[in-house]
Amino acid sequence: MSRFFPVTALGVLLVAAPGISRAACEFDVEVGDGLSYSTTSIAPDASCDTVTVTIRHTGNLPAAAMGHNWVLTRPEDFQAVANAGMSAGLDGDYVPAGDERVIANTEIVGGGESDTIEFSIADLDAGEYTFFCSFPGHWSVMKGTFTVS
Ligand code: ZN
Repeated sequence: MSRFFPVTALGVLLVAAPGISRAACEFDVEVGDGLSYSTTSIAPDASCDTVTVTIRHTGNLPAAAMGHNWVLTRPEDFQAVANAGMSAGLDGDYVPAGDERVIANTEIVGGGESDTIEFSIADLDAGEYTFFCSFPGHWSVMKGTFTVS
């Protein structure tokens, strides 16, 4: 039986259960005009069915020059997805459209912009996943570990 809940249904569930803290399920990742994330390790609490990630670009350069996103895949998929994303271009957020290897991704953001995504981790096996920026040339250094417990 699937443990996946539509986001709207989960929201109702959380409202109905005020004892559940959402803090360990929400993560802010800052990026700037360099090739780094403010955090390279994200580990949602075991109680999280969904995770919220906000990417916030605190730099000045536009997306076309120094855009960043946050893409989550299995470790063995990340280089192939990053390569496939190049052909999607900036308009496609450098993420291959409809690619099932992509577990979640934000849009590409430039200076002063942010994007927030919410996605289910209920169906993910416990273990380490890889998040990375798929902007061409960034993924070899802009990456981190997302741990599902
Ligand atoms: Zn980047």
